[in-house]
Amino acid sequence: AIAYSYCTKFNQAEEKLRRINDNLERMANLDTLTGLSNRRHMNEHMDTLVAEYNRNGKIFTVAIGDVDFFKKVNDTYGHDTGDYVLSKLANQFRIYMHGKGHVARWGGEEFLFTFENMNIDKAYKCMDELRQRVSEIPMQFKEYDFQVTMTYGMEEFNDRLGVEATINRADEKLYKGKTGGRNRVVI
Ligand code: GH3
Ligand code: MG
Ligand code: MG
Repeated sequence: AIAYSYCTKFNQAEEKLRRINDNLERMANLDTLTGLSNRRHMNEHMDTLVAEYNRNGKIFTVAIGDVDFFKKVNDTYGHDTGDYVLSKLANQFRIYMHGKGHVARWGGEEFLFTFENMNIDKAYKCMDELRQRVSEIPMQFKEYDFQVTMTYGMEEFNDRLGVEATINRADEKLYKGKTGGRNRVVI
């Protein structure tokens, strides 16, 4: 009976530790505001994509998207409205990217997308469809009702470039999209 009691206690402690561990892992991987993967988790994910590229030649395209004039949203409607916009966008991204790849909160109002098994032309079609949908989302918070747009830069991964340079190129194109008028996808 004593041995049985110890065994039960041990199992309970083990179960509790497992739960704590799961929670810690979630906290380390997820962005608290949007519930999306954070930058750290996305970097890990892209490492696995590179490994799959090297192993099976599975291609992928990355995109960085940035909310247009987001500072103005905060200044006009308040920081809590800005937070609402980010989480609403994140929900749309999560739904849209299901089966296409992954999305993460990359920075403040920046999101990183991976379009998996897609070259840049195919990924562009998706990204531009999502861009259009984003611009139509009704942002309804408190007495406010407005829309936001986003600008995106894309680059297809290749092993000569590496992940970091691929992201940098996507970022440069995002910048071009900003100076070129915003609410567009640049490839
Ligand atoms: P652009 O079209 O060139 O991207 O202009 P912008 O105003 O979006 O860019 P800028 O970088 O000047 O402003 C980004 C703003 O995003 C500033 C910062 O306060 C805000 N921001 C970053 N993270 C958060 C957040 O978690 N919540 C809210 N509400 N605002 C955030
Ligand atoms: Mg930004
Ligand atoms: Mg911005």
